[in-house]
Amino acid sequence: MRIAVFPGSFDPITLGHIDLVKRAIPLFDRIIVAVGVNSQKKTLFSLEQRMEWLNEVFKEDDQVTIDSFKGLTVNFCKDQQANFLLRGLRNASDFDYEKTISQLNHIIGDKLETVFLISKPEYSHVSSTIVREIIRGKGDVSSFVPSIIVKHLKQTN
Ligand code: ADP
Repeated sequence: MRIAVFPGSFDPITLGHIDLVKRAIPLFDRIIVAVGVNSQKKTLFSLEQRMEWLNEVFKEDDQVTIDSFKGLTVNFCKDQQANFLLRGLRNASDFDYEKTISQLNHIIGDKLETVFLISKPEYSHVSSTIVREIIRGKGDVSSFVPSIIVKHLKQTN
């Protein structure tokens, strides 16, 4: 079985993340989209809210499951018997950062392989960080996030 973990904060999930997972579905038997919980890091949306949106977005995709984890990604992969990590690359700074992490994970994660997909050009400028900034400024994020999030923001604003 080819099991991949797609780890991230997903604060919130963007159309860039969704595109990446959908494109990776044919490559794996199962993809676990896993929210990494870091108690030091303050998030805009609660873990429950982020997981609810992930569950909703991938509800029709049988190979995709949603989970969360604390601690090292490699330990979560081991627990899940996942042999691959899935990551996206938007630009050269993603590459520099991801290269180091992937090399480390290969050593400490018992030959865990990271599979990278290059983001689609239309999503290479999309990041959760930018989306959070726009939300805080009460701007329109409908080009960057799924419609359930847009709906939620309309209701809460
Ligand atoms: P982290 O907190 O680890 O940065 P994110 O939730 O921001 O996690 O992102 C998780 C993964 O999704 C990373 O591999 C990142 O490169 C990828 N990613 C984020 N935004 C995009 C995008 N617009 N297109 C493709 N991949 C993306």
